[in-house]
Amino acid sequence: MSEHLTRAGTPWEPVYLLSIEGSECLGCGRCFKVCGRNVLTQVPLDEDGNVAEDEEDIERYVVTVSNPGDCIGCGACSRVCAKTCQKHGTEPLLEAA
Ligand code: SF4
Ligand code: SF4
Repeated sequence: MSEHLTRAGTPWEPVYLLSIEGSECLGCGRCFKVCGRNVLTQVPLDEDGNVAEDEEDIERYVVTVSNPGDCIGCGACSRVCAKTCQKHGTEPLLEAA
């Protein structure tokens, strides 16, 4: 695997966002807003916890890792989250050929 370097050439290890525990997530959207890679989606839920079809049915939000392959492991989402619902790790996502 290729080594990751900072701009100054210092080695660093990306720590990727692997998953978000939906039952713990507040749906605050801070991670969604801070991510510059479109890895996350803010999903509206109704009172039964299903995806809300209409705006008036929205009870709360949850954020999902909808595009994990574009995560660069910057860790910004981790720093803004007030809960312990995010799981991070260094293992890359290997796509099937
Ligand atoms: S680690 Fe960085 S790129 Fe990956 S989801 Fe979090 S903010 Fe986005
Ligand atoms: S910052 Fe944390 S609590 Fe807020 S939406 Fe993201 S994962 Fe959920």
